[in-house]
Amino acid sequence: MIVTDDIDQVRHTRWASPSATWGLVPTMGYLHEGHISLVQAAKAANDYVAVTIYVNPTQFAPHEDLASYPRDLQRDLALLRQAGVDLVFTPSDAIMYPAGFQTQVAVTEVTRPLEGAARPTHFAGVTLVVAKLFNIIQPTRAYFGQKDAQQTIVLQRMVQDLNFPVQMVICPILREPDGLAMSSRNKYLNSAERQAALVLRRALDAAVAAVRGGETVAEVVRQQMRAIIAAEPLAKLDYVSLAHATTLVELEEFASPALFSLAVTIGRTRLIDNEVV
Ligand code: AMP
Repeated sequence: MIVTDDIDQVRHTRWASPSATWGLVPTMGYLHEGHISLVQAAKAANDYVAVTIYVNPTQFAPHEDLASYPRDLQRDLALLRQAGVDLVFTPSDAIMYPAGFQTQVAVTEVTRPLEGAARPTHFAGVTLVVAKLFNIIQPTRAYFGQKDAQQTIVLQRMVQDLNFPVQMVICPILREPDGLAMSSRNKYLNSAERQAALVLRRALDAAVAAVRGGETVAEVVRQQMRAIIAAEPLAKLDYVSLAHATTLVELEEFASPALFSLAVTIGRTRLIDNEVV
């Protein structure tokens, strides 16, 4: 497994056999089984797999957790070696954003609601770094988790609009046995908060059950989700949404494909989860 922060070495490795296919899994590190499931999907469909580990500062707002974001490079590398990864790109900020850097990559409409409303500068950072990673690695396919549902929609829009020759593959959410979506940020939760965090899954289950049971008024479903979050003392609701699964426009009447999603702060940890019906 080659581990490098050098763009020339990445390019040299990637193009050593020009006809080979490469799968790319971009991550911010502190890897868990969700990340490894993307690696496995990439391995199954490509000759080689590249993983990037980079906590991208441009997708964090000044008040967010950039400085405290969990990091453990040695553990991550051991997991990736075990998973059979071929290339790991671990750039520094100076390599990604050298002095004089001044370019932006912005997707408009689908970045505005949900996470974009709560984190107005977030997606501009995500599209910028992913565009750079695509140009540096030039993968055949790129793997992203449904865990970050809006991110998959934003990046698919960017790939289509800017004609990136990359096939986007979206992989299912991996969960802990009790239903909590795996996330690097789960590390922040103490044991009471970890228990309280199950409220996200409970709210989604209730919402999906409501529409499956015949409820068609989207606001009634959103209200049920809000009530479930409100009943958990450690939880503070950011948003609940029942939106069209690709435009992200809030629904009045339930219609599939729909994205049920929510963001909730438990203690000091902001968690997101979603389900598509
Ligand atoms: P991150 O390191 O949080 O930026 O995540 C890197 C990639 O892993 C993103 O495409 C995420 O959507 C994906 N991912 C994170 N958590 C999970 C999960 N529980 N299941 C599947 N994919 C995930």
